[in-house]
Amino acid sequence: MIYNGVDFDTYFKNYPNNEGYFGKYGGVYISDELKSAMEEITDAYFTICKSSKFISELRKIRREFQGRPTPISYLERLSTSIGNVQLYVKREDLNHTGAHKLNHCMGEALLAKYMGKKKVIAETGAGQHGVALATAAAYFGLECDIYMGSVDIKKQAPNVARMKILGANVIVVTHGLATLKEAVDSAFEAYARDYKDCIYCIGSVVGPHPFPMMVRDFQSVVGIEAREQFLGMTGELPDAVVACVGGGSNAAGFFAGFLNDPVDIYGVEPLGRGPKLGDHAASLQYGTEGVMHGFNSVMLKDENGDPAPVYSVASGLDYPSSGPEHAFLRDIGRVKYDVIDDKDSIEAFYKLSRLEGIIPAIESSHAVAYGIKLAKEMKRGSVLINLSGRGDKDMDYILSLGENI
Ligand SMILES: *Cc1c(COP(=O)(O)O)cnc(C)c1O
Repeated sequence: MIYNGVDFDTYFKNYPNNEGYFGKYGGVYISDELKSAMEEITDAYFTICKSSKFISELRKIRREFQGRPTPISYLERLSTSIGNVQLYVKREDLNHTGAHKLNHCMGEALLAKYMGKKKVIAETGAGQHGVALATAAAYFGLECDIYMGSVDIKKQAPNVARMKILGANVIVVTHGLATLKEAVDSAFEAYARDYKDCIYCIGSVVGPHPFPMMVRDFQSVVGIEAREQFLGMTGELPDAVVACVGGGSNAAGFFAGFLNDPVDIYGVEPLGRGPKLGDHAASLQYGTEGVMHGFNSVMLKDENGDPAPVYSVASGLDYPSSGPEHAFLRDIGRVKYDVIDDKDSIEAFYKLSRLEGIIPAIESSHAVAYGIKLAKEMKRGSVLINLSGRGDKDMDYILSLGENI
């Protein structure tokens, strides 16, 4: 299928190109020393990941450790409550550790093992990526250093405990505002000192090339499974697919299964408290082109052109940029990006819990809310939503809001 001049039959071969660009977005904007580390990872990825030994080991891990394939569930009560549109969810909440993030962490850590690295390094904000990577490191017997701001450490005690139980070193970052941005800086500095023995594992389809490509490829198992399962269940493709977008990894992997099909694709960003800068994290909606964290994409900027403070009820979605592939797919119009605010996502959180017996992550609830909105607008057809994770981590917060829904 050719869409606005882009040939989706050969898309995955050509996007990104050899320099790591999706159109004008992506690339490698880091020091020369780190550039050579990225080249080493890119070369290893292109050789090791094509080997049948690597592929069969990853498949075995997905089946026997992660519990893949995760199912698709038909949401009968929710669909009926809206009208004639059939809603379905792809159950990444049932992937081991309760979210999609383990899909790319297992891939990255397996690559680290094949490259002979001893240690994996990453930053974490809310702690979800840190927990997934600590899980992968424990599985492969790799050391694991997770950089985390002291402010976030206080807020995310259960995830800090999980990382420690799994044997990871949680390294406290105290400079600046002591949140995600400072944790990224510290983790990159540590990586620059030690890149011969370790590998930096980025938590989404962001950062310098090859990470937006590699993380998408590891996550594409979600979209490939979902397409096959949906065809098996219904004999057709869904009319629309929906995923939430923070950095964009669950969406990129899910969309990958449907880009070459006549399927409408929607990415949902968090509108938080509203459209004022600082109240949301909708970079594809309100951002402008810019470079941060080693790549060129869309970005929410403050008056100095630096990454602006962002907000969402879903801490996994509050990132001031989005993966370069999403910026590209937005520009060519293949994916439509829209927003859902805190209130509607919390309402969807309760709906899915009470009508279907599935407690979704508050991040995923943004996609559920948008699926419900689409189902109201469409008169018939089907919508498949990627349920990126489970909501156990969000229950205390949701209850603290009091119940007024
Ligand atoms: C981290 C997280 C997200 C957001 O990350 P993406 O890279 O945009 O997918 C979404 N859902 C859950 C459950 C998460 O933990």
